[in-house]
Amino acid sequence: MVKLLKGQAIEDLEQKISQRLRKLNETVGEELGFGKPPFRNALESVAFMSGLKPAIAFRIPYDRVRFLEIKEFCNRNNLFARHTAEKFVINSNTDYTKFLPLGSEKKGEIYVCISSEKERAEAAAKSFAKDVVVFGRAMGYPECCLEFGGSLSNNVGNAEKERGDFVWSRARNRSYRNSEKFSQLLNVFSGFSLIPHVPCHLDCAESKKYAKKMLALIRKHDSALAKDLLLYLKIPSLFWNYCDYILFDGTEEKGALHYSDLKLYADSPKFFSLAPDYKASTRAKEVYGFLKKGNNLKDSRLSLEVFQNSRKTGTILKEKEFEFFLANPQKRKIKF
Ligand SMILES: [Zn+2]
Repeated sequence: MVKLLKGQAIEDLEQKISQRLRKLNETVGEELGFGKPPFRNALESVAFMSGLKPAIAFRIPYDRVRFLEIKEFCNRNNLFARHTAEKFVINSNTDYTKFLPLGSEKKGEIYVCISSEKERAEAAAKSFAKDVVVFGRAMGYPECCLEFGGSLSNNVGNAEKERGDFVWSRARNRSYRNSEKFSQLLNVFSGFSLIPHVPCHLDCAESKKYAKKMLALIRKHDSALAKDLLLYLKIPSLFWNYCDYILFDGTEEKGALHYSDLKLYADSPKFFSLAPDYKASTRAKEVYGFLKKGNNLKDSRLSLEVFQNSRKTGTILKEKEFEFFLANPQKRKIKF
């Protein structure tokens, strides 16, 4: 059997990484005198506290008390916290964001933006899901990647949404299709990523520079974690969006991805719980069922073929080009 993880289950590796990241976040917070950081994304938090990233942003349910706790942490640390002037509901995994007044009775979330520079925190909170370029610049993303935006590019329904035949708002999809080479450091198709943004392409020099600094930071504190992350970033992903994908323990041989284990993530309805969209997750589950019947696959623009050794067990036709695609960071060159 073809194994990348050498007997380790994908889930075990993820859990190990999550635990070590949580610990790293707290250790760095303590060491740098911040105290226990209230930020959920440990990688971004470490980057922010260490000065690699000038601002940090995250979403929380709109709750005055919760925000005040964060604000207190910021006051203690000479940081500025600003939140969006409206609540929002992420309507779907195509990133359409609907805004609601803060006083609305409907449930919603706010985005909290924090920086040691007041103007930066304000610019980020004002531009969130309204202007990806201003928001990305405030977050310190590379200039070349700004148009790719964060995940919440909010362009559905906008005249700009179609560029050529692909949807503007599906940033990772665009990034993949904009690429000729794939640097493992810029893998943004699974659960952990060294960079906080979607790169303009998967070999972007500025993004790689950031990823290397991030990796060095991690290595300095926890070299085993850095090693595990590098292993994780080699895992191939059959990708719909950042909530719906399938990961494989396997490697490529003679044009096919041979796998000994696979894990399904179909989390859109959970992630977008305020307005769930079941389409991609249902499709991912269906494709997962096919993949379980085989041990290798071939992916192309419009179809996915599944084989058990050399016997074909099924062909899945894609609804449109790149409805989903195999992002394999073990392959340096991207061909489609
Ligand atoms: Zn770039």
